[in-house]
Amino acid sequence: MDRCDVLTTLRKHRISSTEQRRRILAEIHSLDGTFTVASLKESGSLERIDEATIFRTVALFLERGVVRSVGDSERGQVFEKNCEHNPAHGHFRCTVCGTWSCLPPFSGEESGLLFTMLPDEYAAETVSVVFQGVCPRCFGGRETSGRRAFLPEK
Ligand SMILES: [Zn+2]
Ligand SMILES: [Zn+2]
Ligand SMILES: [Zn+2]
Repeated sequence: MDRCDVLTTLRKHRISSTEQRRRILAEIHSLDGTFTVASLKESGSLERIDEATIFRTVALFLERGVVRSVGDSERGQVFEKNCEHNPAHGHFRCTVCGTWSCLPPFSGEESGLLFTMLPDEYAAETVSVVFQGVCPRCFGGRETSGRRAFLPEK
């Protein structure tokens, strides 16, 4: 799978290149899903960088648009890479295991529809959609049709 180049990304977002930033960004680019500062710290490639440095670097990446924030979890803010390899999509937060799952990307029609909910006088830059409930793993052996119980009555 294609990945953005670390140096090109840093340059594009006007972030000066340091070894630690390159290593943290390479790890972020290698992930397809969401991450937290704690989960980055646990990944083998970053174990020798202290958590405060990872935290500050991710905060800088957020400010410059290299990553986007998805929401909050018990383990801190949840992020994901913000590049052409990760088009806008909704998320599902499991209230049982706390996992954040990425849902399929929005179609052009769906993003258009989301923005129609916004009154004209607001200038939105991003939109986020988060479903909460029980993820497939936590459903265990339960019947798939049981999921409908969580949807509002039509
Ligand atoms: Zn990319
Ligand atoms: Zn779950
Ligand atoms: Zn996602």
